[in-house]
Amino acid sequence: MTKQPEWLNTAVFYEIYPQSFMDSNGDGIGDFNGIISKLDYIKELGCTAIWMNPCFDSPFGDAGYDVSDYKKVAPRYGTNADLKKLFKEAHKRNMHVLLDLVPGHTSVEHKWFKESMKAQKNEFTDRYIWTDSIWKEPSGYGSLRGISDRDGSCVVNFFSHQPALNYGFYKPSESWQQSFDDPGPQATLEAMKDVMRFWLNLGADGFRVDMAGSLVKNDEDGKGTIRLWKNVRAFLDKEFPSAAMVSEWGEPDKSLQGGFHMDFLLHFGPSHYNDLFRCREPYFSSRGKGDVKEFVKKYLENYEKSERKGLICIPSGNHDMDRLARSLNPQEMKIAFAFLLTMPGAPFIYYGDEIGMRYVEGLVSKEGGYGRTGARSPMQWDSSKNAGFSSAEKKKLYIPQDPAPDRPTVKQQMADKSSLWHEVNALISLRMQTPALQNLGEIDFIETGYPLVYKRTAVDGKACMVIINPSQKKCEVKMKEGQVLHITGKGAEYKNGCYKVEGGTAVIINLA
Ligand code: BGC
Repeated sequence: MTKQPEWLNTAVFYEIYPQSFMDSNGDGIGDFNGIISKLDYIKELGCTAIWMNPCFDSPFGDAGYDVSDYKKVAPRYGTNADLKKLFKEAHKRNMHVLLDLVPGHTSVEHKWFKESMKAQKNEFTDRYIWTDSIWKEPSGYGSLRGISDRDGSCVVNFFSHQPALNYGFYKPSESWQQSFDDPGPQATLEAMKDVMRFWLNLGADGFRVDMAGSLVKNDEDGKGTIRLWKNVRAFLDKEFPSAAMVSEWGEPDKSLQGGFHMDFLLHFGPSHYNDLFRCREPYFSSRGKGDVKEFVKKYLENYEKSERKGLICIPSGNHDMDRLARSLNPQEMKIAFAFLLTMPGAPFIYYGDEIGMRYVEGLVSKEGGYGRTGARSPMQWDSSKNAGFSSAEKKKLYIPQDPAPDRPTVKQQMADKSSLWHEVNALISLRMQTPALQNLGEIDFIETGYPLVYKRTAVDGKACMVIINPSQKKCEVKMKEGQVLHITGKGAEYKNGCYKVEGGTAVIINLA
């Protein structure tokens, strides 16, 4: 297993969607200087690291996940020098910044792709995956066809304007398919390492890697893609040993073999993540009709496969899914955060989730957001114009904000000791003081219903018990008495050999 950079062991991340965080120049869209002005806020909340969504030059057909120049930031956010300043300002505060690396595809406007579309052979001919005739479509993949002089169809990865970079096929079976060792795929990989080198040299602390598990094609078991990332790991070990790597893969055993430090738990696929937060009867609803068992089962499978290292990051939300507040009320969200902030792996808090920002209903899609647009609305700082996000005219805002008169704001929640903000703040600070609750502490599940009970154990053997009881019903947990470190919600007492925990309550107990 790859050695963790020291700072990652205690990191709590804050995800910033740069468009929507803070606008410093009044053009209606967030920027780097805006983010810099809020670093103290993020630190005060307790987060120690940032993941920022792609901020590179792009036609923004997929909010920046369609890069047109990997080495230049999008002017709407500032300049490369501003981003360098952001790294510096974060480091001054002992914080770290991960950029979002999108290695799988580019925008059609990337100069690599423009060259690759030419009929005449050139340096970029094999940078993307092309069939050898326009009449041949790549089976099993979407394709982009009929826009080039080149006679072929180009494989796409996500939207049809995102041509797939060529890292080869695990076992090429058609004449146009190359293997990972062929010169084209090797050159693509070197180009991507060069992009990483560029930003790490400028001060980035690592990357969240977009669709990390999908680079080598026809690679069902991930063997080819693991091999590719091992190659990247060797490069990082040599040149940037303290760079942190977090994958969007959803299969930690594979990602960790590839040399990533952590893997995200995905909201799609087999994780059962949304059984907890976003379904008809989420586990964290006080109705108490949810089910946590399948989630735990899947989590444990991955946990065992990754050598009982809890390097699985569970996000509060992200730019691809509904806001937590769409299915949970503020009280329920507090209990959800008690869970998120006491699990192994680095927690990731999506900007605004700490105040329970709502999903904005009924919006027209922005920059390829579609249903995701409502979860990407500008941050609500205070009760001034545009909730303190921007001095622009309301209609010029990147995405309309939550119109509700009672929309939550940072200012109002920081002034109210009983707010979600204060609960999140207290839970992070407890985590920071309690090694058993941190990223590398082991987990053992004791009960997996209402309540959910688990034990966390630090490397030095010190342990905590966590009791999570989202339902309205009181519960009892038989165990030896410990020292209550924190109660989220209503309350709990120890009597007759049991913790009697009120409904809507989470308790964290230090086991001596
Ligand atoms: C990102 C999405 C993006 C997609 C394509 C995802 O994993 O999180 O926002 O649309 O990759 O790059």
